[in-house]
This record gives sequence, C-alpha cells and structure tokens, in this order.
Amino acid sequence: MMARVVIVGVVGALERLTYGVPAAIAQQLAPGHRVLVPLRSRRVTAIVTEVGDSLDSGGVVTRAIIELLEPRPLFDSAHLQLIEFLANYYMAPIGDAFRSVLPSLARVESRRMFRVARAPSLLARVAFTPLEREIVEALTKRPLTLRQLQRLGQSSEVKAAIGRLVADSWIISRDATRGRHRAQTLGSPGTSMADQTGPVEPLVSPHGGAVHELAGTSNPELSSEQAAAVAAVTPAIRRRQFEPFLLWGVTASGKSEVYIRLAAEALSAERQVLVLVPEIALADQLVGSFQQCFGSLVSVAHSAQTIGERWASWMAALNGEARIMIGPRSAIFAPINDLGLIVVDEEHDSAYKQEEGIRYNSRDLAVVLARLASCPVVLGSATPSAESYENGRRSRYRMLQLTRRIQQREFARVDIIDLRQHRTALGRAPAVALLVEETKPAKLEIFRSGSRVPPIHPELSRQGVETTNTAVKGAGSGPLADGLPLSAPLIEALGENLAAAGQTLVFLNRRGYHNFLQCPFCGSVITCSSCSVSMTFHLRGRMLRCHYCGASEPAPGKCFECGAFGLEGQGYGTERLVHALARLFPSARIERMDSDTSGRRGARSAIMRGVRTGDIDILVGTQMITKGFDFHNVTLVAVVLADLSLNMPDFRSAERTFQLLTQAAGRAGRGERPGRVLIQTYAPHHYSIRAARDQDYARFIRREMELRRELMYPPFARMALVRIEGEEPTYVSDCASKIADLLANTAKPESTRVLGPAPAPIERIKQRYRWQVLVKSRDRHELRAALAAAAPYRARDGVRVSIDIDPVSML
Ligand SMILES: [Zn+2]
Ligand SMILES: [Zn+2]
Repeated sequence: MMARVVIVGVVGALERLTYGVPAAIAQQLAPGHRVLVPLRSRRVTAIVTEVGDSLDSGGVVTRAIIELLEPRPLFDSAHLQLIEFLANYYMAPIGDAFRSVLPSLARVESRRMFRVARAPSLLARVAFTPLEREIVEALTKRPLTLRQLQRLGQSSEVKAAIGRLVADSWIISRDATRGRHRAQTLGSPGTSMADQTGPVEPLVSPHGGAVHELAGTSNPELSSEQAAAVAAVTPAIRRRQFEPFLLWGVTASGKSEVYIRLAAEALSAERQVLVLVPEIALADQLVGSFQQCFGSLVSVAHSAQTIGERWASWMAALNGEARIMIGPRSAIFAPINDLGLIVVDEEHDSAYKQEEGIRYNSRDLAVVLARLASCPVVLGSATPSAESYENGRRSRYRMLQLTRRIQQREFARVDIIDLRQHRTALGRAPAVALLVEETKPAKLEIFRSGSRVPPIHPELSRQGVETTNTAVKGAGSGPLADGLPLSAPLIEALGENLAAAGQTLVFLNRRGYHNFLQCPFCGSVITCSSCSVSMTFHLRGRMLRCHYCGASEPAPGKCFECGAFGLEGQGYGTERLVHALARLFPSARIERMDSDTSGRRGARSAIMRGVRTGDIDILVGTQMITKGFDFHNVTLVAVVLADLSLNMPDFRSAERTFQLLTQAAGRAGRGERPGRVLIQTYAPHHYSIRAARDQDYARFIRREMELRRELMYPPFARMALVRIEGEEPTYVSDCASKIADLLANTAKPESTRVLGPAPAPIERIKQRYRWQVLVKSRDRHELRAALAAAAPYRARDGVRVSIDIDPVSML
C-alpha cells in the first residue's frame, strides 16, 4: 500500500511525494492524516492526500512513512479540498499552503545537531586549527545545526573542519526533533485522548435542550424579520445542504441574535459551528453573548494565543469538544470536521484579508468551505461589500433583510457640518501654543514659542467668522478650536450632551498628536528613514513614530536640513484631540481608545467598563470605537473628519467611508434615548457621505455600482496586483517593467487591462522600494492566463515578486 503526501513547507519538485505504508498503520491511514516521513537525511511532517494500492511514485524508489502523528485525520476531505483551493486560486505552492495553514507546533521536523563528544578540559589541550577551535568552543556552549555553524566561516571550510572533527571523534551529530510529536500529549488539560480513534462523543445532545432554553431567555422574542431570517436558514442546517445567505441588517437590528438561534439549531443537529469575526479583540460583545448562551461549548481562537494554546484549540475542534468556534480569519482552517453552519460577521471588513504570505480572503474561503462541507453560510453586515451585494442581487446568495432596529428604536439623526465654511479661521501656530503649555520649560527648545491663542470656549468660538452654515440649523460657526477642525456646532452639541448626562463617542481615524513635524524656515518634514512617509509625533514620551514600520525615535531638537531650532507640529490625531477637548470641557471625563492605548492586555476592557458604568463622558478613538460597541447611553457620535478615508488612493475609498460612517452612526441611540450624529467634512456633497447621512445603503450601492461598472472594478472585473519589492530601486523598477511587458503580451486587450508598472502609493516601506502592476479583467480565466505567463519570470536576487489575487489594500 502507498500514500501520496504533501510535505509541509517544502516547495518545488519535492512537495508531493509517494511513500510506502507500513503494515501496522495500513488499516488506519486515511487522507488528512498528519505523518512523519523521511526526506533526504531529515524527518519531516507531511499530510496524506491519497491512499491506495497502485499509486504512481514516478519511478522513484519509495521509502516508508515513519510514524502516524494523530490517530484521527487532522483534515477531513472538505478541509483538504479547501487547502487545495487555497493553493490553486491564490497561485501558491501546495507545500506553502499547508505550512501557512497549520499551527507551528504541528510541524515536526528533525534537524541534525552537532555536539562535543569529549570533556571541555580535554578539548582545551588539543592542537586544533583556529576554525576547528571556534567550532569546538561554540559547541561546548550548546549543540548547533550545520547551518548555525556555517556562520563561523566560509561554508566549504566549515564543512571540511566539521568532517575532520567528526572523524577524530571530537564532536558527534545526532538527529533532534522539534514540534509536537506525540499526539497523546497534545490535548487541552483534562481531556482524555485515549479513545480518539472511536466515534466522536455526541457532546452536545445532553445540552441540546438547555441550549435552546438559554438562547430563549437571553432575548425571548425575535422580531418578525429576525424570525424570518432564522426560518430561512434552518432548513439548510437540518438538510445538511450548502446555501449561501447574505444577512443585510441595519445597525442594532439584532444580527447577533439571529446567529445565536442558528447556532443552537446546528448544535441540536449535533453539528459544529464556525463563527468568523474581523478582529477577536473587538468582538467581545458578540463573544460574550455566545458564551452566555452556550457556556463551555464555545471555544475562542485569537491571534494573541501562544503556539501551545493555538494547538490546544485545534485539538479541541478536532476531537469535537469545541462545538462552536469563534475566531479571526485564520480560524477558517481549524479542523472542524462536522460543520453545520458558518457565520461571517461584518463580512465587508478588510480584516478578513490576509496581507502577508498567501493573501487569502477568509470571507470568500468561508463560502468555498460551506460548499465543500455541505452546510449553510451566513454573511452578515449592515453595509455589505459591493461583491457580496452583487452576489445577492444576482441571487447567487439569498438575501435576508433586517430593515428595522430592535425594540422600535429610532435611527439617530445625522447632520453634516461643512468644514469649508470654517476654513478661513484655520490658524497656523495654535498647535505650538498648546504644546508650550503642556511641556516642561526645559524641553521647550524644540518648539518655537509661537503666538499664543486665546483659550477657546463655546461662547468665544461663536464670535468667529460669519458664515452661512445651513447644514446644522441654528448653530453658529466659528474658528476651529486650537487649529483642530472642531466646529462651533460640534462643540455646542458636545456641551449640550454633557449637560444632559449623555455619553459621546468622538471618532477620528488617525493616531498620534501631530501628523508630522515641519521646519518653518526651510519647509522640510521629518520622514521615516526606512519608509517614504512622514513620522507621526506622539506627545507621550515625545516620540516620532512611523505608522508603517513601527520605527520610533525621540523628537529632534532642530531641523535636519537647515539646522534651525523650532520644528512645528502640523495636523492632528486622537492624542491631540483629547488634549483639546480636555481644555474645552475641563470637567468632562475623557478617555482615548486607539492602538496606542489599548495595546496592553485588559486596557480595552477597562475602557469598555468605564463607558458601561458611565465613568467616561467622552471617548475619543479610531475606527476601533466604531466596531461592535453597543452602549445604551451613547447619545452623540461626532465624526471629526469624514474625508480621511475618502482621500485614499484606492477604488474602495468611497465604500470604506460609507461603511465607517454607517458603523459610527450606528453606535448612537442604541438605548431608550434617541441618538444624534454629527459628521464633519470638507466634501459634504460626496455621495458616500450624503448616503451615510440618510443611512441609505441602497442609494449608496446603486451609485457605487455605476462607477465600478464604468471603471471596470470589482465586482464587474477580477483584479490581481503584482507587487515587486527590493532594496535596490533600479532592480525593482526593471523587474516591474519586465513583468508588465509579459502581462501585456499575454493579456487579451478586449477583456483584460494591464496598468503599470508604477511605484506603489507608498513607495518605500522598511527600506524596500515597492512597485506594482495591476491587472483587471472581465474574464477570470484570462486574468489567470496572463498571470501564469508572468509567474515563471525569475527576478534577480533581492527582488521579491508576489501576486495578490482580489487585492484589498492598494497601498
Ligand atoms: Zn529647516
Ligand atoms: Zn517606517
């Protein structure tokens, strides 16, 4: 008997090999099993894809499988096919696909380790050559691999020296194995893995009834729309049938409750459930509702897991202990072998796209997996992506709508504030004055002590320039507080909401204090030394940080170009906004939530608690605060600058803006009291902002689709982005032109367009120059044919070429 396997992490000729199956495991071995096999002089992990009596080994003498690593196959046929799809669709080697899918602990590998064979005191007296001496001394400290030893000198010389040392028995080599080896030791604590070969215990049947009752008590009555959605999906769960649904439900319409009812349905059919969320850290409220209903049947996978925890959660899924798995995009590959339902919450979110290695989109893979596993998949969103909406419109997905908020809550009233009417009042120096007040005198030298600005107060700010602001009735208009675009109507609304004891979310999708530091004399801006972007000034620690590569350095005292003292801070982020608001509303309790403040474990939940208990009046934050926040006393949401996402060089910028604004607006008025939303913008007539004001997704998507069709963008075309990166700029641009030529020569002009080569919008990140070629096609097969023609092109050393199918980030 023979087995065909994929060697994990190996690409090229050796990725698919055939091995003999020892009699001891012949009865048991099946596709999906994880095994240890010999490869040259090493032992490596492989996944069995085929077992049979007459497999063709391609004329190579077959060696035998060494060991079966789990009694039960790690992947069922649906997941095996999903991984084949992953490799094929995203044009990646299959060995790479398995490597990126498996937890690192699942990769068992042997390495040849060298160690000393004699006592150090004896070795010290031997007359070695200088290189031999270096090797012996390194090995006296700890065993090393050949690769590690080769750093000690020229490769062939090191090999020769090792050969002599081994021949004279001064050192020896042994095989050492790393990775989880014995399946029996791998269960989560308290799990008996002894009877793993037997059928899965129907863990859920004793809980089935209880599950229903629990789900019932959390929210006894479904709205008629919710009930209709549940009723539509349920038959597919019961009949074990693939069917894709798009659950388009406005904010606060109770999508979570629909998911929970459906999960209960799948559990009582004795099947498992996979719930994907964009970011597990931002999904605490959804996770909480599931845990409240299903208790220990819920297993949560998250990106902060240790490698051991990740492996334990895989084992819990595999042995059927985890009946419901909630996780981020990588959870799509967890070995849930009895899938009865897949839910993709916030399906429009770009976090479903993997942006490194194999650039897959979990939302799309979820539909593929559901088909392979014969179960329904529910994609939920208040603002479905253009792609999913088009699938719904063409009846590829069945559209389920929740048009009303639960408990007849009103939508918040949304007003647009036209920032152009405040522009004349935008001063230049005020930011400096603010800093002067906040910094210790000793550190003042780095900022010019410019003109001081009179303190801004709502009363004062109204005496500003006369304008005809019609967007918000009855409100005056005035100078932007402290150089920040805090318009008078916004400040007034904040004050009123504070007085009425309502809570406010202030949304600004930009971190830091100043966007950049600029020399007022020569105009130069401090940029990151590794990236072509300016560095952001963070007041805390007085640091400059690069938001692309993470580099940071203390803010310099003088201009690098002309040597002048007195760099000026320009622009604003959440950090500065908090300072400005604190001065405007000295008695308000203000907190900030962005990735700078919620990095520490527990920081986010502490802020969430503060909002829940009413200890925070104003919460300033980035898009983090637009996701999943469900607080009943939030009665005002202020969007400081809606244009930030609109002005990105990306064909999805209007869609993202609409999504962000809708999500932000959806945070207001989720309780008894009605909510109010203020959107400040320089583009008040843009269709995405107008549609967000009216909370009219249908109108937005109609207009968006017209533009996409006209310009041949998804969903009316397939796209691929070929990225070319490297440290040597001329190599990168040469390579980009060659690839663009290859693509253009193959592409059929009537269906396929090749755009570029062009430098990426961010031309350099982490010292690497970046170019790109964009390919768009009305025909998926044409697109693939063109890419396939360019794929074999070998870039010169140091230049990396990668293909991003269905790209999400265009930067
Ligand atoms: Zn200068
Ligand atoms: Zn950088």
